[in-house]
Amino acid sequence: MKKLILFSVILFLIFGCSDKFKPKNEIRTECKQGIEPVRKVLFIGWDGVRTDALLASKTACLDSMLNSSYYNLQTDRGTYTVSVPGWTSILHGVWPEKHGLTENSFENSNYSKYADIFSLARQIKPNLSLSTLSHWDDFLRITEHENFAQRYETDHLLKEAIKHNLSNCPPDVMLTHFDTPDAIGHDSGFSPSNSMYLKGIELMDIYLNEIMGIIEWREQTYNEEWMVLITTDHGGEGNGHGNQYDLIQTRFVWSIIRLPNLNQKIELSNIRSVDLMPTMLKWINIPVNPIWDLDGQVLF
Ligand SMILES: [Zn+2]
Repeated sequence: MKKLILFSVILFLIFGCSDKFKPKNEIRTECKQGIEPVRKVLFIGWDGVRTDALLASKTACLDSMLNSSYYNLQTDRGTYTVSVPGWTSILHGVWPEKHGLTENSFENSNYSKYADIFSLARQIKPNLSLSTLSHWDDFLRITEHENFAQRYETDHLLKEAIKHNLSNCPPDVMLTHFDTPDAIGHDSGFSPSNSMYLKGIELMDIYLNEIMGIIEWREQTYNEEWMVLITTDHGGEGNGHGNQYDLIQTRFVWSIIRLPNLNQKIELSNIRSVDLMPTMLKWINIPVNPIWDLDGQVLF
């Protein structure tokens, strides 16, 4: 018995104190075909990609997408330059003063007052199919009310799952989050002169090319129209990015919004990461309700 208690104590010490990589409690697995006949949204997050490093990387797929995109290379992602506040500002459309998060923790969240993109979309269109897929479990905690919410062990497995779901049960809105660039940045430096960091970004572009192959196939075969929005949550300097909101390379990031049939490259000026969420909702014909008290504005 003593041995059993000791074993339990050891297990608690190993697993009990940390929730790192513990799946979201309400993990969801319903891969449901979307209800919108034409317009869809695919959101792709690349964690921790500095703008100058993105420009220094060889990203053939992204370069080609830019030719039918709205884009901005100085998107203000606001203060508190870590991931949970960053992705929350993007997916809730409000700054930390409203959503309440200033570090990588959900403790002081004001999500009940300032809801996420999925919760708001469901108020208007309850039957939408909504999914979120990530390598990083905390990304799954930023939204609620999904049909499908899953974490994957690697970005490679994540990419395979995105392709599978887009091919077999495409939702109306899919959020995805890749972690590789941020992991490499922490390991060996967020810098355009770090070849390993650039290689990490280039791997994201290879994955993007595979995903876009399916998007283009769907558009041609089913007459769907996909907004594909790609962005990041912060840049970085040295081996980190926390508390760096006075650094341009950490605070000012990039956003690319590809639309079918746009056929030109349009630069947007003075945009902020909180503007992305209302812009995605507008694409699926959900106008901003003033009651939501968003900080973000629809971009086009
Ligand atoms: Zn991050």
